[in-house]
Amino acid sequence: MSGKMSEITMKEISAKVREAGVVGAGGAGFPTHVKLSAQAETVIVNAAECEPLLKTDQQLAALYPEVLVKGLTLAMEATGASKGMVALKAKYKDTVAALEPWIKKRSNLELAIMPDIYPAGDEVITIWLTTGRRVPPGGIPLNIGVVVNNVQTLINVARAVEGIPVTTRTLTVTGAVKNPITVTVPIGTSIRDVFQLAGGVSKELAYINGGPMMGTLITDLSASVTKTTGGLIALPKDHMLIQRKQMTVDNILRIAKTVCEQCNFCTELCPRHMIGHELSPHKLIRAVNYKSIGDPLLITSALTCSECGVCEAYACPVGISPLRVNVALKAELRAQGIKYQGELGKEDPMAKHRLIPSSRLMDRLRLRPWYKEAPLSLEVYEPDEVNLKLQQHIGAPAVPVVKVGDVVRSGQLIGEIPAGALGAKVHASIDGTVTQITPQAITIRKGGAAK
Ligand code: SF4
Ligand code: SF4
Repeated sequence: MSGKMSEITMKEISAKVREAGVVGAGGAGFPTHVKLSAQAETVIVNAAECEPLLKTDQQLAALYPEVLVKGLTLAMEATGASKGMVALKAKYKDTVAALEPWIKKRSNLELAIMPDIYPAGDEVITIWLTTGRRVPPGGIPLNIGVVVNNVQTLINVARAVEGIPVTTRTLTVTGAVKNPITVTVPIGTSIRDVFQLAGGVSKELAYINGGPMMGTLITDLSASVTKTTGGLIALPKDHMLIQRKQMTVDNILRIAKTVCEQCNFCTELCPRHMIGHELSPHKLIRAVNYKSIGDPLLITSALTCSECGVCEAYACPVGISPLRVNVALKAELRAQGIKYQGELGKEDPMAKHRLIPSSRLMDRLRLRPWYKEAPLSLEVYEPDEVNLKLQQHIGAPAVPVVKVGDVVRSGQLIGEIPAGALGAKVHASIDGTVTQITPQAITIRKGGAAK
């Protein structure tokens, strides 16, 4: 890092971030240059990493505190924010110790220590825990003057300003693997290759892309790592989390109709409900079961569900998944172009007492046998081939700017944002030759003479 931040203007920061193809690494991949083009009062680094087993952000922040703080201050500069916070848990002692000296250098930065609860990393909850402010239902943090970025995103922002595009992803590979590890791989590396780095794959195991709570089942190990791949987890096929993720929505609805006792636990423990959002999973289950909508806002409140999984994995005593019902409702509502229009209500006075301790969640999910260190390797894996998706972000897919047979260098632009569209650029992640281009992806194989 050259440290020339004061010489760079707000517009130049977001332009460089756009050039580098930075997207929100902790979520759905919203293009970061768009986020940084807005004006905000506060920028928060979300370093909560509250999904059990994942250990990427805490280790990256401990290893690169200066780069992370530089990314934070650049984001503050770009958005005109007067305050910067790093939100993390006290139990990340090494990370706190590494960051402290860098945070203390500037009076407008602070470490915001959060309780060890789930879902501290849901940005709406992160903001509430660190600032006491509440994002309205259906709104975004910017509605209350806040921008939230995760650790890897801001490290990528700092690198972008140095002219370094996003070509790698660091992620934890853990669970029932031989050697849990946190590795850095070129984007486009196959998931099977990444599991090989942790000891290989097995027919006895099933695989999750992301954390145990919010991750999705992997159906194809040849799929590739993207800018948003949060972690990879292996678990025995008969593990409750795998069984639950395999259930169909029809099955879930059948169970809900048969056994929902309207106990209200799912709503009492719903983090969004606690902070004053209307979302009440027990009412949604009732409405779906009896096909009675009542208040029309009720069904549309499903759109405000964060999909944190508290209702299905922790709250419901009879194994119903309001989350999956909400996901199905969201798909229908979005297809009809319906938006949620409700207001922010009162915060539950008991909210802080209802938060779920991570250790209790770990026991409930029966993950204790796999709660192990996953040390960060400093080597960057070198695959023979990468398959880079043209859409690793929210918005329009990137448009290829190379052709089959082209020899490319790591970091070279291969996918451009379509004119006038929301999107993110895609860069080659290894040196090699373009061997295939489909509407979905560009494949690069190692080898070929440089031009
Ligand atoms: S997944 Fe369940 S607990 Fe989480 S926000 Fe949605 S309804 Fe609430
Ligand atoms: S916790 Fe389960 S049983 Fe209770 S109201 Fe919610 S879905 Fe129904």
